[in-house]
Amino acid sequence: MKNIILFGPPGSGKGTQAAMLKDHFNLLHISTGDLLREEIRKGSVLGTEAKQYMDRGELVPDAVVIGMIGGSFDTAREEGKEGIIFDGFPRTVAQAEALDRLMEDKDTSIAGVLSLVVDEEELTKRILNRGLTSGRSDDSDEATIRNRVQEYRTKTEPVASYYAANDKVREIEGVGSIDDIFQALCKAFEDL
Ligand code: ADP
Repeated sequence: MKNIILFGPPGSGKGTQAAMLKDHFNLLHISTGDLLREEIRKGSVLGTEAKQYMDRGELVPDAVVIGMIGGSFDTAREEGKEGIIFDGFPRTVAQAEALDRLMEDKDTSIAGVLSLVVDEEELTKRILNRGLTSGRSDDSDEATIRNRVQEYRTKTEPVASYYAANDKVREIEGVGSIDDIFQALCKAFEDL
């Protein structure tokens, strides 16, 4: 299996690019944000708990998200996928460590981390813009967005250092046309 992590701050285009990459390379797309929003939609206990954090722009507790991705590798194999593209996970070093343990169990590993680089001003602009149509309550309020970026800087950025130690991170410029960024990601994926 060729498993990758699509990394980058909120609003960097991970969801858009992951959807294109999964089709192009026959990967299973795992977005913890989408999984959490699905739980909220269903009105499950997990969803109700997670929503309180998400609406404040805070990370959902590690145990909750780690519990959600346990079956990913079995699903990918059953569906004949070439690997998994993780989008929005891992977001803390504890999540990265849990993913390592799970992969060891499943006899697989992370081929690389593709990291989208976008400046802060552009991020806020994009998220507020998305909020006009996405219906996501965490996209509409500037204070919540600032909180998400803050969570990213303090808790998620260290995940890049975790993987950089094994020389697994490739940075990709995340500002430009969707197609140009997609081409750059494809090349980086193939080079891993
Ligand atoms: P974005 O990347 O634009 O912030 P996501 O859909 O990835 O959008 O995440 C939305 C929210 O869901 C986050 O702000 C956080 O509250 C929660 N979330 C998603 N993935 C995780 C995760 N791996 N760990 C903790 N919280 C998460």
